[in-house]
Amino acid sequence: MCYAIPGRVKEIEGRKVTVDYFGQERNALNEIYGLRAGDYIYAQGGYVINKIPEKEAQEILSVWKETFFELQEVDLKLSKLDLEAKKFDSRFSRILDRAMEGTAPSASEALYLFNSANREQDQYLYKAANFLRQKYLKNSCCVHGILEISNHCSLNCRYCGISKLNRNIDRYRMSIQEVVEAAGLSIEKYGFKALVLQSGEDPGYGIEDLCYMIRTIKDKYPALIFISFGEVGLEGLEKLYEAGARGLLMRFETSNQQIYENLHPGQQLSTRLLHLKKAYELGYLILTGGLIGLPGQTREDIINDLFLTKELKAEMYSFGPFLPVPGTPLGAKEPIDKDLMLKVLSIARLIDPTEAKILITTAFETLSKDARRQGLMAGANSVMLNVTPLKYRQQYAIYPDRAYQDELIQVQIEDTLSLLRSLGRAPTDLGVVHEKQVFSQKK
Ligand code: SF4
Repeated sequence: MCYAIPGRVKEIEGRKVTVDYFGQERNALNEIYGLRAGDYIYAQGGYVINKIPEKEAQEILSVWKETFFELQEVDLKLSKLDLEAKKFDSRFSRILDRAMEGTAPSASEALYLFNSANREQDQYLYKAANFLRQKYLKNSCCVHGILEISNHCSLNCRYCGISKLNRNIDRYRMSIQEVVEAAGLSIEKYGFKALVLQSGEDPGYGIEDLCYMIRTIKDKYPALIFISFGEVGLEGLEKLYEAGARGLLMRFETSNQQIYENLHPGQQLSTRLLHLKKAYELGYLILTGGLIGLPGQTREDIINDLFLTKELKAEMYSFGPFLPVPGTPLGAKEPIDKDLMLKVLSIARLIDPTEAKILITTAFETLSKDARRQGLMAGANSVMLNVTPLKYRQQYAIYPDRAYQDELIQVQIEDTLSLLRSLGRAPTDLGVVHEKQVFSQKK
């Protein structure tokens, strides 16, 4: 995981680059021709994104230096765990003690934690997850942008507000030029270094259109591009990778085959998983996960979902609550309690402590106003900000009253950075423009 501040290339060995950030080292893969030791670069998601002039880098680093260590201190303080904690039940304590010492819980142990009905134990579980996040991944927090390029979809997932069966929404499809411009704005004006392009499974874009879109963005702007266009086919994945996409956001939604098939008429869980496996083989960073609180879903199912995510070698865990959408077949169901989501995030951290980026999804933030802060204090370390142009954002109505559906990008950024700063976290995917804004608030 790299900081979105300039790093100095310390060493290059083949494609592997060692990057120095104020004496702390990170590794990244290089795709830039002619990179040398001593160059200053931005790296994201394990990739070198671009090279910047030394003078520019020095200016940015001089602004950052003090804050870099200050934030780490705040995070360290907030993530301390009282190891002399109250006496909890012996199995609970044993599982957590072992997790602290580096042994991740088994599926049955994870289920035991999940089934705890003791509020104090739950609070301790969240703290333990936060402790592990700090221990292994320090204070970096991914801040990706997500750009929803079309709400057309040819599928009819039974929980989704933009499925083809919903005749009550206005549909939009951004032109390639609009997408490139919106991506450019996000990268150049707002400083995002990682951007997810998302749509329903929209037959209005062919693979060649999507490849052209990505290639054009990559040619013009330095950023890590993730795709989230649904199942584009294995060949489609290859072409999109060649065009410059380096991450795939595609949730499997549930590992329970029967529930999967009930919810996704005509779709196969095995095909979904094949896409995810192929994408990993091709070199994509995998962002995946599922829905929590689906009708018929058991706690064992959820634990299986978490282990499947790990098995798929996910770079990022993306779990969100099922939110009922009026007018869909599941519209009358009840949403889950937010504490269940916090348990899922914290158990995900215990299961995959050393590497995982764990996302606070917008759906979770829609369920609870304090979700972002609470999730970040329960093992999570990633957020996504919506950079879809406002004129389209409301129409991407996968569920009602989505968080941030009317908020300017700048406002989302300021709120996020202010929260991250209060928790001692450093944003890894936003550029220096915004970090400077945070510093100026400090004075
Ligand atoms: S969940 Fe995705 S694939 Fe399914 S209907 Fe909604 S947009 Fe389409």
